[in-house]
Amino acid sequence: MRTHILGYPRIGSNRELKKACEQYWSGKTSLQELLKVGETICRQNWKLQQEAGIDLIPCNDFSYYDQVLDMTLTVGAIPERYQEIASKQSGPELDLYFAMARGYQKEGLDITAMEMTKWFDTNYHYIVPEFRKDQPFRLFSHKIMNEFVSAKQTGVNAKPVIIGPLTYLLLGKEKENGFDKLDLIQNLLPVYAEILKELQNYGAQWIQFEESFLALDLNEKAKETYEWAYSEIRKQFPDLKFIVTTYFDGLKDNLSLAASLPVDVLHIDLVRCPEQLDEVLSIIPETLSLSLGIVDGRNIWKNDFERSLHFIEKAISKIGSERVFIAPSCSLLHSPFDLDLEQNEKILSPEVKQWMAFAKQKVYEIVSLKKLASGNADYPALHQYAENKKASSLRKTSALIHNQEVKNRVDIITEEDSQRKSPFNVRKEAQQKVLQLPLFPTTTIGSFPQTKEVRSWRSKFKKGELASEQYDHLLKKETERTIRWQEEIGIDVLVHGEFERNDMVEYFGEQLEGFSFTQNGWVQSYGSRCVKPPVIFGDVHRPYPMTVYWSQYAQSLTKKWVKGMLTGPVTILQWSFVRNDQPRSVTCKQIALAIRDEVNDLEKAGIRIIQIDEPAIREGLPLRKADWQNYLKWAVEAFRISAGGVEDATQIHTHMCYSEFNDIIQNIAEMDADVITIECSRSQMELLNAFADFKYPNEIGPGVYDIHSPRVPSKEEMLELLKKAQTVIPAQQLWVNPDCGLKTRHWDETEKALTAMVEASKEAGAAY
Ligand code: GLN
Ligand code: ZN
Repeated sequence: MRTHILGYPRIGSNRELKKACEQYWSGKTSLQELLKVGETICRQNWKLQQEAGIDLIPCNDFSYYDQVLDMTLTVGAIPERYQEIASKQSGPELDLYFAMARGYQKEGLDITAMEMTKWFDTNYHYIVPEFRKDQPFRLFSHKIMNEFVSAKQTGVNAKPVIIGPLTYLLLGKEKENGFDKLDLIQNLLPVYAEILKELQNYGAQWIQFEESFLALDLNEKAKETYEWAYSEIRKQFPDLKFIVTTYFDGLKDNLSLAASLPVDVLHIDLVRCPEQLDEVLSIIPETLSLSLGIVDGRNIWKNDFERSLHFIEKAISKIGSERVFIAPSCSLLHSPFDLDLEQNEKILSPEVKQWMAFAKQKVYEIVSLKKLASGNADYPALHQYAENKKASSLRKTSALIHNQEVKNRVDIITEEDSQRKSPFNVRKEAQQKVLQLPLFPTTTIGSFPQTKEVRSWRSKFKKGELASEQYDHLLKKETERTIRWQEEIGIDVLVHGEFERNDMVEYFGEQLEGFSFTQNGWVQSYGSRCVKPPVIFGDVHRPYPMTVYWSQYAQSLTKKWVKGMLTGPVTILQWSFVRNDQPRSVTCKQIALAIRDEVNDLEKAGIRIIQIDEPAIREGLPLRKADWQNYLKWAVEAFRISAGGVEDATQIHTHMCYSEFNDIIQNIAEMDADVITIECSRSQMELLNAFADFKYPNEIGPGVYDIHSPRVPSKEEMLELLKKAQTVIPAQQLWVNPDCGLKTRHWDETEKALTAMVEASKEAGAAY
């Protein structure tokens, strides 16, 4: 039996890499200094795994920005627009690399960055490879070999982690018509062969190919290409040992394909898809070993040893221990670094901490599991087992986690709870009677600029340098200024500005029971950007109103309507580490009930328009299409539960900041929000077609300008967009708003843009 790690977090225990990269980008440090930080992190990671006793330690899991971009540079798939930088300067490879990641505006050049998108269903973002017809490839960067050699110098014969050729192609985007990216395999494979040859010469024995797409829906051509590519690789390298990794879902209909690839080890994710083990064991050929992904690489909970040992024993009894590998389910890139760094008991209580494991702890779990399963348990392993048993039995009964009242409330949710009192057309009339809004009503998405001052007040308040009365006073002043300002420029539905909020999930998590936070639980999101998700550890409920104070205050300042502002249950769930002892859908319903209480309290306090943001509904979609409807069913229900308790005359808004609705439009309609605001400006209203084709009946606010850029749009261009919108959606259904919250913008841009937006709306209305 052998242990291995698919990949280790690379930001450093204290986000050293983030800081070093940002310093380098701003010209404050030299390349040498950055490289030194990178090398130190690599060495520390290798050493940690070596000391823990991991058998196969990865290399090339490190990256200065993103592992997919690394591969792009390795195989020389450099988009044309960077050729000038690539050829002009014989400068450092890393500068070209960062230019591709972040764009380049220097020396008279203005080159846009490569596109970024989500890595499967994680919150990690990768840089999308760009392919042309006949895309040439050549061995360009030697990063993989360099890392292998560097590991060797520290005494580790590492296992290079390489994005598999098929997955690499499938991750990319065809930048011109008339070809299929899969056909590029012919050009690509020789470069892989070159890499493997060099690695072999340096003494590499094991190679890990990430073939994440084997856990997704594949068409016939992709399957055939898989077979062809891997048999070519095998032919050329009969002596290398290949591990093919899959994760985030089960192999399902790709199982026979995956099991027939001429490789040495197949890795499967038994956290996401434990039910696949029996089937895999029943068909796995004798030439293939199996790597069991049993420790969750995506979450922060201690492993359940009893369950894992059961899986391991089952595998051993079927195929023998020599053919069994044990590993985390996926790369630990998605786990925070080290739980030992959490020493502030006020932030993370010891009771909750005892249930948790971060990347470093997971490495030790893997090692202990091997010892326990092979019957050579030493004292540390036995001790860990005992601790593990104690923690998991405590978790089953802890009063900190379990709240019978909350569970009962979820159990008695009825069909009615997710129904508004009347259908939309009746509500629309009731709302219009009360709200008296003009055609093309204007509003914003919620937040107004979070200036340096606002952020400094919060940080001082958190440090105890600002008394709560002072903090409150400052926020009130800012809110009042914002209300006055919106009145002046003539916005119809005002917002309070969200100055009291740090983050749209954390703000609610801090006020809900069942949530905890960490001091240092950072996970890489993209490049140097890291996030620190809240931890949902127990039954969620709302002890007190969370937003009524601010909404009520803001409403008291004005005769116009102020919109209450909440984050929806699916988004809170999606952007947190979630408990693994009950289905996500149950946790989501608990959050939905908490938000419902808040919605009802806002209504009681006289707030007549309430927005429940759900920007994360789409990203929660399962990887396999067959699972979509099940997810959407409970996600939509959770939203409806949160919105379902109010009177007809109370108007519920929702907001989503993306633009692909075609395939889920039916479900969006089922959410039955009275008004939905969406991102639209960058796609020139084209995405409205999805709503038009569906004959979406409720009201829509297609964003008329892009808030992600400091550029101020003109009245004319917004009017143009509004006209375009009216060609597909009746005017009576349209709202006018920016495409997302304004918290990252400056006041001067915001002022100009919103003033023009109000004028555009008035002019559009004047035509009726
Ligand atoms: N109400 C939030 C804001 O305006 C919405 C943010 C979002 O959609 N991501 O900031
Ligand atoms: Zn948004």
